[in-house]
Amino acid sequence: MHDFQQTWPWLHSDWLQLAKTITQQRIPQALLITGNKGLGKFALAQQFAQSLLCFTRDSAADYCGQCQSCRLFQAETHPDYKIIEPEQAGKSITVAMIRELTTQLSLKPQFESQRVVVINPADSLNNAAANAFLKYLEEPTERTTLLLITEKPTKLPATIRSRCQKLLISCPGESVLKAWLEQHNAGESSETVMRLSQGSPLLAKQLSDRAILALRAQCFSDWVSVGCAKTSANELAGQWYKLDRDELAFLLFWLTSWVMDMITLAHHRQALNVYNPDLIEDLQELTEKLDLKSLYKYYDFLLRSQKTLDTPLNKQLMWEEILIKWTILNNRE
Ligand SMILES: [Zn+2]
Repeated sequence: MHDFQQTWPWLHSDWLQLAKTITQQRIPQALLITGNKGLGKFALAQQFAQSLLCFTRDSAADYCGQCQSCRLFQAETHPDYKIIEPEQAGKSITVAMIRELTTQLSLKPQFESQRVVVINPADSLNNAAANAFLKYLEEPTERTTLLLITEKPTKLPATIRSRCQKLLISCPGESVLKAWLEQHNAGESSETVMRLSQGSPLLAKQLSDRAILALRAQCFSDWVSVGCAKTSANELAGQWYKLDRDELAFLLFWLTSWVMDMITLAHHRQALNVYNPDLIEDLQELTEKLDLKSLYKYYDFLLRSQKTLDTPLNKQLMWEEILIKWTILNNRE
């Protein structure tokens, strides 16, 4: 038995909406699934895809899990199911990948039912790929459903968006999120984890991991120590750049949230909506010493650095620059 509802309680109403398109035979040709990171958009697409492909769905349009189609789907060898994604996180979906897909789609499906293609993330289609994809959307093949997943729908050409039906996934409420975290044996579901994850369950689960919490605390104290010149920027950059890709992404995210909170605190001394309630006193103290204008500049710089995280840019240099700028910001007269 599968238990989509138990695993993804906040996606239940979205699933019901998709199931209805099957029972009422209004299956979308192209569906754009949007919503924040860590909400399970891909899991929802999988649930929909397997149900579309299943030979013996139940009356609620849910897949059976036993038929030949379901077995192939679960073994990830279903001939009528394709996932198009970049070769590596942060890379593009290329025109060659889209051409290969449209060639395959021009042939008959293996089985007589539906075909499903997931494009994840759809905003990683580069220009040429987006154009080729648009051509396909203008003359789509029959009984084919395309599921486009993205956190950043505005990065997709309007011409593609306008040809898709849309499904926006919302964040669960705090009580649903807390119950889910407890059920999934996540570490602490502290206020800080809830704030930092902005209601995104998968992100909250990662952030509440004890090792990740410990890394965050260590990075914060190291960062403060570089600010007051107790540790050299180069030395810390040398340590930070050795972290793995996920840890680096978290670190940049934390840094940005600390600076964001400092900006908030500079404007409202009694900030209720900070991302890092556990660090509020330290951040307040730092804020009082720093120049607000320079802090804004530093914030912009961190946002730009986030965009370079998946480029081949020298990471040690990136961290050196981040930390040197931070030292200068703390020590200007
Ligand atoms: Zn089945």
